Amino acid sequence: MKKKEFKAESKRLLDLMINSIYTNKDIFLRELVSNASDAIDKLYYESLTNSKIKIEKDDFEINVSFDKDKRTLTITDNGIGMSEKELDNNLGTICESGSLLFKKENEHREEIDVIGQFGVGFYSAFMVASKIEVKSKKYGSAEAFMWSSEGMDGYSITPVEKDSYGTEIVLYLKENDEDFEYDKYLSPYDLEDIIKKYSNYITYPIRMKKTVSQLKEGSKDEYEDVEKVEVINSMTPIWKKDAKEVSEDDYNHFYTDTYYDYEKPIRVFRNNVEGKCTYTSLLFIPSHTPYDFYQKDYEKGLSLYSNGVMVMEKCPKLLPDYFSFVKGLVDSPDVSLNISREILQEDREVILIAKSVEGKIKKELETMLEENRSEYEKFFDNFGMQLKFGVYNDYGMHKDDLKDLLLFYSSKNKKMVTLKEYVKNMTEGQDKIYYASGETYDKIDMIPQVEAFKDKEYDVLYFKDYVDEFAIQMLREYDGKSFVNISKDDVDTGSEEEKKELEKENEKFKDLFGAMKETLKDGVSEVRFTNRLKNHPVCLTSKGNLSIEMEKVINAMPTDEHIKAETILEINKNHPIAEKLKNLYENDKAELEKYTKVLYSEARLIEGLSIDNPTEISNLICELLSK
Ligand code: ADP
Repeated sequence: MKKKEFKAESKRLLDLMINSIYTNKDIFLRELVSNASDAIDKLYYESLTNSKIKIEKDDFEINVSFDKDKRTLTITDNGIGMSEKELDNNLGTICESGSLLFKKENEHREEIDVIGQFGVGFYSAFMVASKIEVKSKKYGSAEAFMWSSEGMDGYSITPVEKDSYGTEIVLYLKENDEDFEYDKYLSPYDLEDIIKKYSNYITYPIRMKKTVSQLKEGSKDEYEDVEKVEVINSMTPIWKKDAKEVSEDDYNHFYTDTYYDYEKPIRVFRNNVEGKCTYTSLLFIPSHTPYDFYQKDYEKGLSLYSNGVMVMEKCPKLLPDYFSFVKGLVDSPDVSLNISREILQEDREVILIAKSVEGKIKKELETMLEENRSEYEKFFDNFGMQLKFGVYNDYGMHKDDLKDLLLFYSSKNKKMVTLKEYVKNMTEGQDKIYYASGETYDKIDMIPQVEAFKDKEYDVLYFKDYVDEFAIQMLREYDGKSFVNISKDDVDTGSEEEKKELEKENEKFKDLFGAMKETLKDGVSEVRFTNRLKNHPVCLTSKGNLSIEMEKVINAMPTDEHIKAETILEINKNHPIAEKLKNLYENDKAELEKYTKVLYSEARLIEGLSIDNPTEISNLICELLSK
């Protein structure tokens, strides 16, 4: 039998396939099943346009079977089939894609969709097979031929007996080796998994013989194993079904099955988009934070389908980082089936779709915020952090898109509010957005400075996530109102008169403060009286952009860099302790030192900062108490 050589281009591709560049060998099955589906599409199309061909859509099928002893896997279709010449042309060359030619010839007819235009296709079977036989009988022809090849050294075509039209592809699987168990493709479970994963939505039934356990006839509790041919694929993708036919439950089940979640999603949204790009998306927002969500190896992405055939399981390009919690898929006829991972990242269609998907997600969140506040708050509890990172990351590039999706705890309303709501409810005369940071809302509520703001009926936003303050500094302002940390030294809520009086007092006792600062050395940059505290004796405030909370966050990071916020020790000028200090300065400098140390430690503890010399302070307190 005369062997034919593969064309040069084909040889190159074949070589790549045999030595398998793809780590994901499973996709060969997707390619063969897609080819089978294309071949059926072609015959179905002919049947629609040629009244002599009498085939019903229901007659079409793809069959997958295996023989463990012979180590063969067989894929059969009753599609259009190939003539001797077509076998030669289509499988001997890779460049001239039959599908593409077919599509060109029929460009004006739209009834039929040919999936899989060109690419590695058929040859990917050489990743798993050492020998391939393709028996095919063209529809309407009396003869059948077999194309056979063991790879690089060419192929042969010989006449064979074949009863029915269509194509049968037999793969002689490679022997298992240390890298891979080719036996996997002889296991009905694995085959079913692969078919479900990649070809679930092929529109023709994919049948496979399976062993299933079923009740013995006439018995109530005895089971027996029987062989049954079953349809493996679900055929119509849930996102292509008429929306009226799909219930909320259907979507929820699809979600829990596909994304291995035990809880149904908080939100499901499906969009059909036509215009600059054409696609259908089915997206889900999980109702809880996935256990690995805030870990480094969490992979974001949406599944990408080309007309119901999966191209990529998780395409990261389809989601921006700040929406990385969204799960789901995009199906677009504009995406080519054989596009490579690398190209996909740069693909114009994919980029267009990603942009559009982002808009849909944002819209959905806005709607949820508007129409179902409690649901949104639950969502924000799970994923709000990601949105705040989004404001901060990329030098604030996306801050305007995200700022209205943020929620913060409001001291006045004792619930989460948007920035818009905060500004709308500002007290007369208030022109800034006030916030305070701390570990928990309760702790922030007890910060001495908060008291004065409450007195004035100013609302204060409580920040307890470490990213909050960084995000807010990136925003800088909202609706023209700047953000102000109430723990900053220059925040004032008093009147001009009060301010003047305080300045006078501070000037008068500057020697006292000098002595106290001397005791504290570099601990603080200044000591002074304040009138912003109502009942509390002391507080620590910060100067400049770096707040005490930010100092804590940055210092907790695993780098050698340590920074220090510039702090001021403020003493309540109306508290009895103020008089005591004035007194000590006149009469007992040694005692003043002790008081200073204790007061400074108190202020640090209130801020949630540690103290360097706890034993010394503890002893000092006891000494003062025992007097
Ligand atoms: P592609 O499907 O992307 O065109 P392939 O290498 O997978 O590339 O297939 C090459 C060609 O072989 C197809 O275009 C088609 O014409 C033909 N072919 C492959 N499989 C079948 C099949 N099962 N039935 C009929 N024709 C087929």
